[in-house]
Amino acid sequence: MRAAILHKTGQDTLDVREDVTAVGFREGTVRVRMRAASLCHSDLSAMSGVLPQPAPFVPGHEGAGDVLEVGEGVTGLAVGDRVVLCWMAPCGLCDHCRQDRGHLCIASLRRLGAPGFRIEEGGLTASGFYGTGAFAEEVVVCADAVIKVPADLPYEAAALIGCGVTTGIGAAVNTAKVEPGASVAVLGAGGVGVATVQGARVCGAGRITVVDPVASRRERALAFGATEAVAPEDLKAVAKKLPGGGFDYVFEAVGRAATVRAGYDAARRGGAVVVIGAGAQDDLAQFTMGELFFNEKRLLPSLYGGATVRRTIALVVDLWRAGRIDLDGMVTHRVALMDVNDAIAQMHSGEALRTVVTMG
Ligand SMILES: [Zn+2]
Ligand SMILES: [Zn+2]
Repeated sequence: MRAAILHKTGQDTLDVREDVTAVGFREGTVRVRMRAASLCHSDLSAMSGVLPQPAPFVPGHEGAGDVLEVGEGVTGLAVGDRVVLCWMAPCGLCDHCRQDRGHLCIASLRRLGAPGFRIEEGGLTASGFYGTGAFAEEVVVCADAVIKVPADLPYEAAALIGCGVTTGIGAAVNTAKVEPGASVAVLGAGGVGVATVQGARVCGAGRITVVDPVASRRERALAFGATEAVAPEDLKAVAKKLPGGGFDYVFEAVGRAATVRAGYDAARRGGAVVVIGAGAQDDLAQFTMGELFFNEKRLLPSLYGGATVRRTIALVVDLWRAGRIDLDGMVTHRVALMDVNDAIAQMHSGEALRTVVTMG
């Protein structure tokens, strides 16, 4: 079958090959025929080495498809089920999982780099990014890494739900619990930022200010429910004019210490900064003890929607069905798996909100 391989960390293009096999099917796993996968910024971060993932690997962690084969001992899944991949599969047994915080289970990270694919030429094995590897026609993953979704949810929308949309909507609904009428700023108008805007709108935020350096991205965010869109250099002035001297909630959807800092400064005293962006291990965010204590601004990191992923995905599917969120509009580009490098170029250019890679 066909799959896109990153041979070495630091390379910026993928090698789309036809001599790849998904390996490791056994008890407790499922084989999935991928139908659509979308490119998330974290894929680029794994390719560049900002996020750890041993190479060679197959990127892609935001994907949807159909169950082809179910391993022994797997319950609740059947051949033909439509599923979304979950890149942080909960083990179900640890303290986090038992306390209904499966999104904090890091058991799957212990399998980081486990072989998921074999390349015929040279007989090399490759892992799947964060235990998935969605840029392949087929994947074998542990049963906890697939979440069943309704059969009428289009594959493209389902793929988006696998990471970015769940992350953004969950940050607003689960982590911040934005109240009706609240003032919200979203820093970064990429896929996660736009999903956060939609989450804040669902919560009834009174004001949703999107902040992004690119004018076309600002413009586009307005179509998803932002009430205003400004350039980063204007954030301070906008925040200052608000009652309380800042926003009730500032969402950082960029993944940089400097943006978190700008967000902290734009939050009102007693407000909250919700950190969603996946940043680097060595990028230090700085706050003084005096300001942390005196301002009582809360730092609220939000990982993968800030709650058990299965539940956040169910919520997102319900919102989609009720017409409360726009997933179709988030797909700005489509390419075939053969052309996955075009998707990477579009993401680098800042042009694409989400490019869906279709597997036919
Ligand atoms: Zn666990
Ligand atoms: Zn992602």
